[in-house]
Amino acid sequence: MDSELMPIGSTLGILGGGQLGRMMALAARVLGIRTMVWDPQPESPAFLVADHHLSEPYDSEAAWDAFVSRVDRVTYEFENINWRLAQRIAEEKPVFPSFDILRICQERLREKDAARAFGLATTPYRRVQTAQDLLDAAKDLGTPGVLKTVSGGYDGKGQVVIGNAAEAIAVGQQLEASRVYIYEKWVAFTREVSVVVARDVHGNLVTYPATENHHHRGILDYSVVPAGVSEKERAALESAARQLASGLELVGVMALEFFVTDQGEILFNEMAPRPHNSGHWTIDAAWPSQFMQHVRAVAGWPVLTPRWWSPVVMVNLLGDLFLDGDWSRLTRVAAMDGVQLHWYEKREMRPGRKVGHVTILADSRDRALAEARRIKEMLGGQWHDGA
Ligand code: AMP
Repeated sequence: MDSELMPIGSTLGILGGGQLGRMMALAARVLGIRTMVWDPQPESPAFLVADHHLSEPYDSEAAWDAFVSRVDRVTYEFENINWRLAQRIAEEKPVFPSFDILRICQERLREKDAARAFGLATTPYRRVQTAQDLLDAAKDLGTPGVLKTVSGGYDGKGQVVIGNAAEAIAVGQQLEASRVYIYEKWVAFTREVSVVVARDVHGNLVTYPATENHHHRGILDYSVVPAGVSEKERAALESAARQLASGLELVGVMALEFFVTDQGEILFNEMAPRPHNSGHWTIDAAWPSQFMQHVRAVAGWPVLTPRWWSPVVMVNLLGDLFLDGDWSRLTRVAAMDGVQLHWYEKREMRPGRKVGHVTILADSRDRALAEARRIKEMLGGQWHDGA
């Protein structure tokens, strides 16, 4: 069953009902594959497009029965799902990507260890649990560095920059005794780049063009394709992504994030075993989209060699832009040529919350960037150059 083609009309279970689950369900719909989304949040954006949904806690036995009995195969839209839940589901129904990949991606130390094991370079890092560990790490690996919780952090949450030994001592006093951390040497990168890779049950593996990412306050602000990297760097990024995805025997889509330094070093930072925010541009400027590719691979269909036809910029829309409840700016942008709005239908607009994105296609990278800037400003947002 694991490697069989999921027939049209069968049901894909999706753990997590945010925008990624929603875009997965929309892709499944195109193929005639039904979806059942499980998310404890009653107003999950994916519920609006799924055939069935369960708004129950993940530890509910009744929900477990209802989910497992109804779905033919399972995937997940975010990596903070307890991997033991995925493992337990896998005893009944195939789960892709495997719960083991999920387990690795949930923990920064495991993730970087795995990347190294498959031959990828990373910045120096070390496990930290006590104040002494932190001071030793800062001394041995050098400062500046960044201390991160090994699990549970996302969008830059749970991270603190350590500038020198004195700061390492001060931060060391505040460590939570039950938590594990990772100390990483700070990377003076010139670019942050991600690569989306898809691999099917037969081992066919394809990659999308490298995407350049710009963050603001730890949250992805905008992505640009083509990335501003050399041909050599592009090839190295692609081969690193291939190495890791095939090493992990991925089935589905995975995104790998890298730092590119001015020395041309490619350093792995982290990965997500699912479609990724930095791959949203593939919906409008590539074929098939990362979501279609993910559904195909998870459903046992072969992945397709991606085609890409236009320079593109994807701009994230955060709740901050719409706190005043005025939608007229958004309507104006949605009506522009060369611009596609994706709205996630989240009920509540909160600062820092991703509520939609826009994709801007143009005939050059620079024109797409200029247009993206204009649109961000039309929406009342600020453009963060080279952020
Ligand atoms: P992460 O949660 O690991 O993706 O970190 C969030 C953001 O913090 C990254 O996208 C980088 O911009 C920055 N960052 C994280 N780790 C490092 C590092 N070791 N050196 C420099 N910047 C970092």
